[in-house]
Amino acid sequence: MKRRDFITTSSALAAGSFLSACNDSNRQAIDYSKIKEKKEKKLASININKNKKVILKLATSWPAHFPIMGTGVEEFVKRVNTSSGGSIEIKLYPKNTLIPALAVFDAASAGEIDIFHSGPYYWKGKNSAFSLFSGMPFGMTSEEINAWMYFGGGYELWRDLYSHYNLYPFMGGNTNIQMGGWFKKQINSLSDLDGLKMRVPGLGGEVFAKLGVNPVLLPAGEIYTALERGVIDATEWVGPYLDMKMGFYKVAPYYYSGWHEPGSILELTFNKNSWSNLSLEHKSIMEASAQEMNSKMTYEFQAKNAFALKELTDKGVMLQSYPDDVVYAAKNALKEVIALESSKNVDFKKVYESASSFLQASKSFSDVSLKKYLNIR
Ligand code: CA
Repeated sequence: MKRRDFITTSSALAAGSFLSACNDSNRQAIDYSKIKEKKEKKLASININKNKKVILKLATSWPAHFPIMGTGVEEFVKRVNTSSGGSIEIKLYPKNTLIPALAVFDAASAGEIDIFHSGPYYWKGKNSAFSLFSGMPFGMTSEEINAWMYFGGGYELWRDLYSHYNLYPFMGGNTNIQMGGWFKKQINSLSDLDGLKMRVPGLGGEVFAKLGVNPVLLPAGEIYTALERGVIDATEWVGPYLDMKMGFYKVAPYYYSGWHEPGSILELTFNKNSWSNLSLEHKSIMEASAQEMNSKMTYEFQAKNAFALKELTDKGVMLQSYPDDVVYAAKNALKEVIALESSKNVDFKKVYESASSFLQASKSFSDVSLKKYLNIR
């Protein structure tokens, strides 16, 4: 894929014929026969359900075949269609083919589509707490977010908040740790950020704003040109693999390690009625397939970022770390952003407290295990 190019229910009812044995000379046999007939009818209704083909509409915020996110959803659709023996057919509608990219939440909420694949931080305008399910600056890694979701209360909080919008979410991938962005000039101290125009969304953007940066929001297709022409001085995107496809290295050679998006969740979210109407078997297939997609996308980012980083350094990209004073100021700025948002939104406060306490517990373990190991291997 080049830089600029960046899917009713129909019933196939099994014809069933029900033989009812009837023996007039034997009352007991007649009674037995009625019981048997009832049982057969019950079994038949199960068979009929099994042969019903469920057709679901899934719209995404990504273009068709978009690397990792788009192709990952395509794999999910194939897995569900195959695992269900064809009893589920998901029709996939990439970005803007049925629903505009950032209208998928509302479309699923209203029941115009059954499922969407996107990212929770796009909906922070509806409820700022949603951005926390995407991850947080200086927050949890992808592994920690998975642990919090499954075993720390994350899923319960997320599903409770989304239920007000008639939605039922699953994790549907994770970008894994993101890089800190591309800069045209080196950042040697906090003062070098003053007045810089940078494309950086979400909570990270709010933190950068407190450091003197002018955060700019631009559609994906306009970022490269804006950076090339100096309309912006810097941009973050995702990680080496997707960043390389965007070509940023050609116009901004300084590539910084990140702290603003350490593990951004992607979501596979169902209209709540569409989810409730699925059979137990179909729910099970969906859940397992979503989990597979969640894991595989995360690993795909890890693998492809590793190989892409080498290509980028071979092209002369200069790897950088933010200076200590920038990191220190960013942590303090984050505290202000969290305090303000928590005072304005009780949902934000609740989700933040859950995520934050889980992070502290996880950190106490990872500090003596993973962190030490990574430093010595
Ligand atoms: Ca990003």
